[in-house]
Amino acid sequence: MSKTKTKRQQEIIEEAKRRRTFAIISHPDAGKTTLTEKLLLYGGAIHEAGSIRQRKANRYAASDWMAIEKERGISVTSSVLRFEKDGIKFNLLDTPGHKDFSEDTLRTLVAADTALMVIDVAKGVEEQTEKLFEVCKMREIPIITFVNKCDRPGLEPLEVISNIENQLGIEPVPASWPLGYGRDFQGIYDLIGKKLHLQKKEEHGAKKAETELYDLEEGIEEARLSDFDKEKFREEVMLTEDMMEMMDDEAFANGKATPVFFGSALNNFGLDVFLDYFSELANPPQPYQDESGEDRDLDRGFSGFVFKMQANMNPDHRDCAAFFRITSGKFERGLQVTESNTGNKVKMSTPHTLMGDERNILEEAYPGDVVSLFNPGSFRIGTTIYSDDPVKFDVIPLFTPEHFMKVSTKDPFKRKQLREGLKQLAEEGVVHVFEVPDGVGNELLLGTVGALQFDVVKHRMSTEYNTELHMNSVSYHAARWLSDDQEVSDKLESSYSTHVTTDMEGNPIVLFDSKYALNQAEEKVGAENLFKFKQG
Ligand code: GDP
Repeated sequence: MSKTKTKRQQEIIEEAKRRRTFAIISHPDAGKTTLTEKLLLYGGAIHEAGSIRQRKANRYAASDWMAIEKERGISVTSSVLRFEKDGIKFNLLDTPGHKDFSEDTLRTLVAADTALMVIDVAKGVEEQTEKLFEVCKMREIPIITFVNKCDRPGLEPLEVISNIENQLGIEPVPASWPLGYGRDFQGIYDLIGKKLHLQKKEEHGAKKAETELYDLEEGIEEARLSDFDKEKFREEVMLTEDMMEMMDDEAFANGKATPVFFGSALNNFGLDVFLDYFSELANPPQPYQDESGEDRDLDRGFSGFVFKMQANMNPDHRDCAAFFRITSGKFERGLQVTESNTGNKVKMSTPHTLMGDERNILEEAYPGDVVSLFNPGSFRIGTTIYSDDPVKFDVIPLFTPEHFMKVSTKDPFKRKQLREGLKQLAEEGVVHVFEVPDGVGNELLLGTVGALQFDVVKHRMSTEYNTELHMNSVSYHAARWLSDDQEVSDKLESSYSTHVTTDMEGNPIVLFDSKYALNQAEEKVGAENLFKFKQG
């Protein structure tokens, strides 16, 4: 029996349809910051490029908590950049762009409906992109690819296409094609709209590129290319021309095929075409499954989940922010919400959106939007909140740690603080804390996705828990979470190269000294029982 929708429900559905919530996956230096800035430029959110980088620099100055990152010249703050173009509201979940990424980066992808993959034309798919891609694959979200730096010498476009296919095992589908590359790069051919965009650099890319549109042949005539290169371009276009039309929509929706755009973020080449199609191709907000596996319709009562916690954003206040993604309903300032786990009620009186570092008080928001709440009490990563229509999500997985350290306290009388402090940090999602396999009791094992997190733990344990840590690195080849099935754990019993232990919540994990040990275990209990991601 279909019920007619209330006016409010219709409003929620309409507003959700206008939103595109996405995150960028890339390897450091591929051009994520530059592209972000240019998307804001083309989206009309800023009028001149250069301000984001500036803001990044200011942010360092504002926070001593960021001291470690400042030293290393990297940024940790992950915020949401919002811009609107042609009636579409984009939420770019800004993932930290540092050399040494963390679980935060992976978790942010859980709050996104689409991933934008940025690749450096000279390097192809790199390691960090692959790790982020794994999360997209798990979530089956669409991936849209932008091949950047086409103004520099690099792989030929066809080589980039096969690189994506070989490295990631997905089907790359050309959506635009570069006209000339390296120093000859002059624009792109829009393979969907069938127009050649000849472009000119403008003031080092601070302003939009001057662009002239041509039909294919007419444009080729105008281009500054040798006859040989013109012919090559013609052939490549013929080869790739119909691929977008033939792209399997379902494969794209599940992240098994990716449209590929070429361009240069620095020079603003290929960006207008990219952004036009991006809003068409990117997913509007999708329903999330609740704990029982049922889709939470977007037009139901307000709900959301916390995907990121940020401590000490302002050192003067020692404050903390929870970022949550709205999964259903309409959010209004002052709304009273219930926290699923504890039943605690919280009035959302000062919710914010973050644009770079500016905090704007938010009056209303819809599915797909991200809202941050300062000093949110007992909120944790993964916390579900709702207003009047109860629900619980369990959407944030545990990601497999890749770096390990044994820790103890320098002061033997602080063992209790060690456990308590680390437990807190584990609950905040800063680090995984394990019992040391066959340990003697006064040590714990820390696991992280990025090695920088150890510095963060050390720093916070010292400043917030007054406990100096002693750390010893331990190298494991790999780790896998286990299901709660005792039989699997028993079968894997610890040996000299395989170590079964649990985290502080009791989740079992197995650590391997070598690839051989991992392969052995896969044979013994089946690869399907060893998880890279574990639903908490
Ligand atoms: P991120 O680490 O991925 O955020 O990369 P950035 O946006 O900071 O870019 C890394 C470097 O590549 C910077 O020096 C940029 O100026 C440069 N860069 C970014 N896009 C382009 C491009 O399209 N062409 C060229 N030649 N350089 C670029």
